[in-house]
Amino acid sequence: MNAPTPNIDSFLSIDNLTVEYPLSRRAKVHAVTEFTAHVKRGETLGLVGESGCGKSSAARAVMQLPRPTSGSVRLDGQELTTLRGAALQHARRKFQMIFQDPIASLNPRQTIRDIVAAPLEIAGIGTKEEQTAKVAEMLDLVGINPDQAMERRPHEFSGGQCQRISIARALILSPELLVCDEAVSALDVSVQAQVLNLLEKLKGELGLTMLFISHDLAVVKHVSDRVAVMYLGKLCELADAETIYRKPVHPYTRTLLAAVPEPDPDALRDRVELIPGELPSPVNPPSGCRFRTRCPFATARCTDEVPAIREIAPGHTVACHHPLMEHSAA
Ligand code: SF4
Repeated sequence: MNAPTPNIDSFLSIDNLTVEYPLSRRAKVHAVTEFTAHVKRGETLGLVGESGCGKSSAARAVMQLPRPTSGSVRLDGQELTTLRGAALQHARRKFQMIFQDPIASLNPRQTIRDIVAAPLEIAGIGTKEEQTAKVAEMLDLVGINPDQAMERRPHEFSGGQCQRISIARALILSPELLVCDEAVSALDVSVQAQVLNLLEKLKGELGLTMLFISHDLAVVKHVSDRVAVMYLGKLCELADAETIYRKPVHPYTRTLLAAVPEPDPDALRDRVELIPGELPSPVNPPSGCRFRTRCPFATARCTDEVPAIREIAPGHTVACHHPLMEHSAA
């Protein structure tokens, strides 16, 4: 097994990203620890894990909201973590984010026209008339009738319509990277499917690269080309979506998948029982492998040694001393 191959074609390169939040002089939350992932242009990388695993902190650190504690985020070759002030503001046109709660993310006192036009206003782009024309174009693109929506306010729309309006706002500066943080989690299942289909359509039409964060593996499977699995701030496994769902080798990935209803009986022949126990505190994570307190395959080595990320097949990386294919080979 080898160290992961560096991906020189990446459009988004996240290397050794670490996010820590100080609690006191001695204690800090280890939200994300040395997370590395590379995303090609036009690709969707899904980022999954339990609530509290650090995936949203990683997404926000990519957006520089706030800047990570350490590590590198490069977009199209430009390092984002060292940008400040106007340079960062200008670079932000290339990367935008969609948030979990569509209604809360829209200012209830503003009209839809002003909400969607806000990025243009802040960037000083266009006259009022030009901005209004662009807002109409974007609303039309996301399936909202501009003539009926422009002068209304967010409370007059459903959750799904508000998420469409959020997407219009996120796309108005023609970004190349869209970060979706639990973008459909607050929506009804039928509306989720509509918004996911819209994102897929827009991705194809606009050539977007996407980082798609969700705790829901079924949703991630639907939209992702590749999937990264996180546990307690660390990357466990990364591979193309098909491999992650059919041949996961990290015990945690297997556990997560066992919780998803699966219509194909062959997909998970060797289901593992859901492992009991709570996610340990990110203030004082376990030594060695962070999953060891819940892992049925843990050994003394897992307590003593942090598992390095290694490539077990082209494009398939895992951080585990005893990946599952070793158990099936035994
Ligand atoms: S390194 Fe050890 S504890 Fe961690 S997932 Fe692998 S087998 Fe389990």
